Amino acid sequence: MRVLVVEDESRMADLLAQGLREEGHAVDVARDGTDGLWMGTENEYDAIVLDVMLPGMDGFDVCRQLRAAGRWAPVIMVTARDAVEDRVRGLAAGADDYLVKPFSFAELAARVRSLVRRPSGSRPAVVEVGDLRLDPATHRVWRGDDEISLSPKELALLELLMRRAGEVVTRTAILEHVWDFAYDGLSNVADQYIAYLRKKVDRPFGRDDIETVRGAGYRLRAPA
Ligand code: CA
Repeated sequence: MRVLVVEDESRMADLLAQGLREEGHAVDVARDGTDGLWMGTENEYDAIVLDVMLPGMDGFDVCRQLRAAGRWAPVIMVTARDAVEDRVRGLAAGADDYLVKPFSFAELAARVRSLVRRPSGSRPAVVEVGDLRLDPATHRVWRGDDEISLSPKELALLELLMRRAGEVVTRTAILEHVWDFAYDGLSNVADQYIAYLRKKVDRPFGRDDIETVRGAGYRLRAPA
């Protein structure tokens, strides 16, 4: 397996590279975001270990631009902060996994192994429900021929509803998938975002596809 490590702290970069080599991987190291983006675009990697805090272009930007360039190598984001917002941003930027410093090398090695086991470099498939179409790779959404502009969280919520079309999705499930357990006390955030979604996805098209299931949650109407 060929792995790219993007990390500016040389001690950390050397440690990661050495450890991954001992695991039998071929390892390239980029010392900043610009180099990381260039190497990730020019070469085929089976996994990319990407530090968030980088001089110049940060890890979120690197990941976003890799995806925009059509590079789908699995990305593990590494951050020093255990911030929910970072995790959400990382996933929205197209990262596949997330690791908080300090972590054990064994944990990183296990994550790399589990990521590269997936079909390599596959672009996530477009999700379709009726005339709604969502492309997780490019973060674009359409109703018929009309493109709809959504925020990252609105998009994540719609994707969850679409992947479970016809099923009731509980507020708890919404909070777990779109936000994090840390938002536990704020369950009305789910209702709020459902309202935003309806305003963009349903109402302008005279539709009522996002149903409220009283006492249970929400359901996206699936076409018969
Ligand atoms: Ca760093």
